[in-house]
Amino acid sequence: MPVHLIQHPIVQDILIALRDTETDASTFRRLGTRISVLLATEALRDLPTRAATVHTPLAEARGCRVAADVVVVPVLRAGLGMLDAVLELWPAARVGHIGLQRDEMTAIASRYYAKLPAGLHDSFVIVIDPMLATGGSAVAALDLLREAGARNIRIICIVAAPEGIALVERHHPDVHIFTPVVDEGLNEHKYIVPGLGDFGDRLYGTF
Ligand code: URA
Repeated sequence: MPVHLIQHPIVQDILIALRDTETDASTFRRLGTRISVLLATEALRDLPTRAATVHTPLAEARGCRVAADVVVVPVLRAGLGMLDAVLELWPAARVGHIGLQRDEMTAIASRYYAKLPAGLHDSFVIVIDPMLATGGSAVAALDLLREAGARNIRIICIVAAPEGIALVERHHPDVHIFTPVVDEGLNEHKYIVPGLGDFGDRLYGTF
């Protein structure tokens, strides 16, 4: 399965700041948006385009315009921390929401909310889920999108664990994963190590 490691120095600089326990919630939010813009830019690199011609004040100029319906799907709640970035990059994107809650004891994700745009068959769908840990939520979100007809799907995360990548690969081998890093693995509570802690808690200050 295609895993795209985004090793741009600015991405890596932001990642280390996100990991730092000294980073407060407001800074964490801003950094989360900045890194997501860079990751989303990579994930949208092969958006289809069509030829376009305009008139500058001086002459005719040929170029291209994006010719795709982009749908971005944050996995609640942590994925919301990446949404503004994608919408800043591509304001025309339609937005779906998938609410998945992780049981603290079993780490199994259960769905409590889903609202997706209609007509996903030909859309360019991006799932945003910052921590690809066990992969349970990612697979649940991908299953739902497939049931809704989506075919062209990719995931952007900020930290991935080998376990999460393996699970996505097993269930959805054609889904591309964009991440700045693949960490060592999961601890006994299914948190990514070294990771950055609970992304949602750090984003919203809910410790
Ligand atoms: N979710 C998080 O926010 N952090 C982890 O390390 C794993 C899942």
